Amino acid sequence: MRILFLNPPFKFKISRASRWPEFTKSGTLYYPFWLAYATGVCMQNHEVMLLDAIAKELSEREAIRRVKKFLPDLLVVETSTPTFKNDIKFLEKLRKEIETKIALVGTHASVFPEEALKSKAVDFVARKEYDYTILELANTLEKNGNLEKVLGLSFKKGRKIIHNPERPPIQNLDALPFVSQVYKKFLDVRDYRYALALHPMIQILSSRGCPNLCVFCSWPQTSMSRLYRTRSPKNFVDELEFIANEMPEIKEIFIEDDTFTINKQRVVEICDLIKERKLDIIWSANVRADIPFSVLKKMKEAGCRILIVGFESGNQQILNNIKKGITLEQAEKFTEAAKNAGLKIFGCFMIGLPGETKETIEQTFQFAKKLNPDMAFFQQAVPFPGTEFYNWAKQNGYLITEDFDKWLDSNGRLDFLVSYQNLTNEELRKIRDNLMLRFYLSPKHVWQTITHNLSFDEMRRVFNAAKEYFSYLIQTKVKK
Ligand code: SF4
Repeated sequence: MRILFLNPPFKFKISRASRWPEFTKSGTLYYPFWLAYATGVCMQNHEVMLLDAIAKELSEREAIRRVKKFLPDLLVVETSTPTFKNDIKFLEKLRKEIETKIALVGTHASVFPEEALKSKAVDFVARKEYDYTILELANTLEKNGNLEKVLGLSFKKGRKIIHNPERPPIQNLDALPFVSQVYKKFLDVRDYRYALALHPMIQILSSRGCPNLCVFCSWPQTSMSRLYRTRSPKNFVDELEFIANEMPEIKEIFIEDDTFTINKQRVVEICDLIKERKLDIIWSANVRADIPFSVLKKMKEAGCRILIVGFESGNQQILNNIKKGITLEQAEKFTEAAKNAGLKIFGCFMIGLPGETKETIEQTFQFAKKLNPDMAFFQQAVPFPGTEFYNWAKQNGYLITEDFDKWLDSNGRLDFLVSYQNLTNEELRKIRDNLMLRFYLSPKHVWQTITHNLSFDEMRRVFNAAKEYFSYLIQTKVKK
């Protein structure tokens, strides 16, 4: 069977695979890694292609032309909350020109499969972790088999919509092909960029799922589950070695796990293996603020450069409200240990969380200044469908709109989508923009940036990211 995996075109260069699907101020573009993993799973048994219309900036017409040229029997299309309506309209146009079965995947389709299947252009929704659902769907279609046996699949049967039982999360992640091999075959690594990482970078996963309970966090609640599953250190380091040997143009490997460091012993084993094999690599990862110095030191020695940390708030009650499971004291201790280990820190802070006031936001700002990470980002809390935060905001009337077409502003950025009696969405917007300026223009931060031994590449990256961010601020002010 011929299967085409498509990241469909959109007016903004948006990362559908990201936790935060928007056009970024820093020029970041994620690999379509979920699609790529599923492509890898299916390529052993089927003729497959992965087409990233976003990275190639294809128009709808050109994307349709390329789909028609490949002539797939099954088209697998990723969607996301802010692009959902547009993606459906695109598929309706495409459907008029080519006869193919169409399956929709991604967090939004997993939460609203009925809504997706209302469109005549969508035949199937492969919910949640869909790698093997797509493989089984293709095998079943090929044999004209019973679709009701494909776990995790929603589909139309006559006028009825059938939701098959959930597919259990994948246990043996070592059985998945290396996603880097899929990228090498179908994508151009130079198309992808992460403002924090050296360019070209590559994004791979060493685990799936996160056992923590943060109420705003989408993937564990909508797609990858709270069941934490890992690749063996050997299997993961084999892929690092493949990248080091076969993709020498890659300057940094970004470990895109929800949280790379849940199992500290496993992290140590991975670091030991990297050193044992003498891999000359630079890598970075998403982590929680709960790693001891001994592990951080091992990570640094094995080539780790920067840690992306969700500190979220400087107010303990807010951290408790969002079930972060981290104390302010832990965050301080961790930051000091990471700096002592020689690691850089990108701190993520969020405003507009449940219980937020102007005072708690100021506490968050003061906490960020106290931690003084190398880089910081203050972003508004976004209630992604399927999360506890979304349900809470909706039930209490704090959600501004459920028209997902309105979730991006005119610049392609996620809008401020919650508004409280004591703190409106517009107030949050103004406060957020001011926080960024206050942080980056504070004498302490400017001095740290100048004196922090940044390499030429890092200087250039920081400069470009800052330039794009400030041009965003100017654009926003001009449009108001
Ligand atoms: S620890 Fe990170 S990945 Fe896990 S639920 Fe919380 S925010 Fe999400």
